[in-house]
Amino acid sequence: MNSATTSSNGANRGPCSCRHPPFQYTDYDTEHIGEDSHGADIAVSTCKACGSVWLKYLVEEPHHSRSGRWWRVELPADAAKGVSAASARGLIECSAEGFAGGSYFDSQGHAITAPIRIR
Ligand SMILES: [Zn+2]
Repeated sequence: MNSATTSSNGANRGPCSCRHPPFQYTDYDTEHIGEDSHGADIAVSTCKACGSVWLKYLVEEPHHSRSGRWWRVELPADAAKGVSAASARGLIECSAEGFAGGSYFDSQGHAITAPIRIR
């Protein structure tokens, strides 16, 4: 029968896949912003399922193995429009929570909380 007794806190929609790593790039519409002065790759991704906007900061040092690492934080929709490559790092580091991952962390994605430090 229709069992409604699954462990529920009352929300009628489960957490979206954009909040549960590993993340699939195909789940997002991604706008490439550019590179910042550290050579990081900045992108803004909008979740196709729920519309949440995520700022992603990707560092890759091709001459170092296992150097790939990224951070992503949710942005208010209005903030997303004003994101530039130069402002991305500061936006991420002043966020209260987000996700990080990459071979550098040996992680496909894990939740992080403030203080967030890009390294
Ligand atoms: Zn989502």
